[in-house]
Amino acid sequence: MTRAILSDLHGNLEALEAVLADLERAGVDEVACLGDFVGYGASPNECIERLRPRLAVALLGNHDEAAFDPMALEYFNDEAARAVRWTTGALTRENLDWLRALPFETVWHGARLVHASPSDPPAWNYVLTLADAWTEMQSCRERLCFVGHSHVPAVVEIGTTHPSRVAGESVQLVPGRRYLTVVPSVGQPRDGDSRAGYLLWDDEGDTLEPVRVPYDIARAQERIRAAGLPAHLAERLAWGQ
Ligand code: ZN
Repeated sequence: MTRAILSDLHGNLEALEAVLADLERAGVDEVACLGDFVGYGASPNECIERLRPRLAVALLGNHDEAAFDPMALEYFNDEAARAVRWTTGALTRENLDWLRALPFETVWHGARLVHASPSDPPAWNYVLTLADAWTEMQSCRERLCFVGHSHVPAVVEIGTTHPSRVAGESVQLVPGRRYLTVVPSVGQPRDGDSRAGYLLWDDEGDTLEPVRVPYDIARAQERIRAAGLPAHLAERLAWGQ
């Protein structure tokens, strides 16, 4: 079965539309989302309402949490906090309640899904280095763990003695090895590639494929500016940072 794992939409409807079209191309059967539906972008309601009917499973992200819990804003920089406050005002009651009910983590078809890190999901720790990936997999019993949060995609193979990054368009998984995958961000990539991203997981071929798709960045930027959100949030979309 071909599954898609999405993360970090951040209210970017144009990026989401491009990804949804690509899911049809790829013949995806089931879709999961690792959270951060909202924050930064100008289309929080549209993103939730467009993706929700397609989702088999959805998790809470830190920006989703901050949208309904002002205490969480303490850990946000000024720009991100401004965007969260705007988002809270923009979200419908129904969408806020839907975010509030999302879980921190789950196991889906034998794989652990969590927005930030499996060792302590509500702490919103980043998995940035090979050492982070190794440490995090010590608290994960599953063979596969999928996270988002950093917006910098990576597939890390956890060997018997050391972790290593696996590159390539499609990653063939090795029996007996375990993998921590940072899923590409749909709506705000930060790896220098401005295209929208998501992950394909084919459990029959035992492969993982990070996918990137071009989208209408200018339109997403226009919406951010028209909403009165910080201009930098529009600019960074073009840089993929
Ligand atoms: Zn995020």
